[in-house]
Amino acid sequence: MIPISKVHLGREVEELVLEVLRSGTIAQGPRVAELEKLFATLNDSRHVVAVNNGTTALIAALAVLDLKPGDEVITSPFTFVATLNAILATGATVRFADISRHDFCVDPDSVAKLVNERTRVLMPVHLYGQTADMARISQIANENDLKIVEDAAQAHFAKFEGRAAGNWGIGCFSLYATKNITSGEGGLISTNDDAVADKLRVLRNQGMRQRYQYEMAGNNYRMTDLQAAVCLPQLGAYSRLVESRKRNAETLSHGLRDVQGIHLPREIAGRDHVWHQYTIVVDERFGKTREELAAALEARGVSSGSYYPRLVHDYDCYRNDPRVVIDETPVAAQIAASCLSLPVHQYLTDSDLSTIVTAVKESATR
Ligand SMILES: *Cc1c(COP(=O)(O)O)cnc(C)c1O
Repeated sequence: MIPISKVHLGREVEELVLEVLRSGTIAQGPRVAELEKLFATLNDSRHVVAVNNGTTALIAALAVLDLKPGDEVITSPFTFVATLNAILATGATVRFADISRHDFCVDPDSVAKLVNERTRVLMPVHLYGQTADMARISQIANENDLKIVEDAAQAHFAKFEGRAAGNWGIGCFSLYATKNITSGEGGLISTNDDAVADKLRVLRNQGMRQRYQYEMAGNNYRMTDLQAAVCLPQLGAYSRLVESRKRNAETLSHGLRDVQGIHLPREIAGRDHVWHQYTIVVDERFGKTREELAAALEARGVSSGSYYPRLVHDYDCYRNDPRVVIDETPVAAQIAASCLSLPVHQYLTDSDLSTIVTAVKESATR
């Protein structure tokens, strides 16, 4: 089977993890500080604060903004559930803007329509490794005095007009096992605001700047040096990883260009896509549903995934929650029902890529 994602950590990671294990500093220590510093440099961010996972990154970023019950956060309905859960954890109300078919991220026109006197935060999700339209989202935020929290869990070092994800507001990255870079579990928060960074560091550590001097009701959001040691060596190899994902995406798009009824993902001009996922959209002309295509691919040895098969709020546990306000988002609904991600990761061989292309083509006709 060609897997949809693959984790392969090399010798350098093994050695650094062993070094940390033997050092005796296995909770937060110098390796976490090193990871924060290196990521900040590579991302062109003033500050990076490491936390224990990407969901925590979102929760902490929102917590810094002191949202009150009734305050509204506008986000995408086409995302991983962590985006929604993090907003609910702060006590705020969530509103969903529709997405654009071109980038699978929130459509600025739809965001603008939802803004009202209760709106406090815009929370775009840079889905699949490509940023949302941050020029227009920033403009809406500026005009209405709103904060931006970027869910960049899938978009490490993706760029919009040359500026990296996480620099348009408070940026939240995940280092979960299947993300482009990983620490097993882990998260990073980027900010160019000194006060926000300071508050995040105190919040992460039980509200303490000095031992037993509590400044706020904090939490334990700390990352361990073991996690940082898993991640650090990957940063040096990151540009190669993106190059190979980009090349794989181009090979898939070239091979699939004439297949009727599937829409191929595109890197929009001015954006640097990091290809966390390569996601096609299947329409009626293809002759098979998304589920039938996934099954046909599986039979030919190709794994695929639907990220995400339903809108994030479309589950019983959210339906009667008064803080989950559901507006019509027809584009997102249609794409959730018909999207399918194909393997694009850096471990694919040329032969894997031609297997994937052939499998999709054969599935279309048989
Ligand atoms: C992975 C992911 C998260 C959550 O990150 P974890 O590290 O798994 O907690 C949040 N948002 C999106 C869009 C994600 O893909």
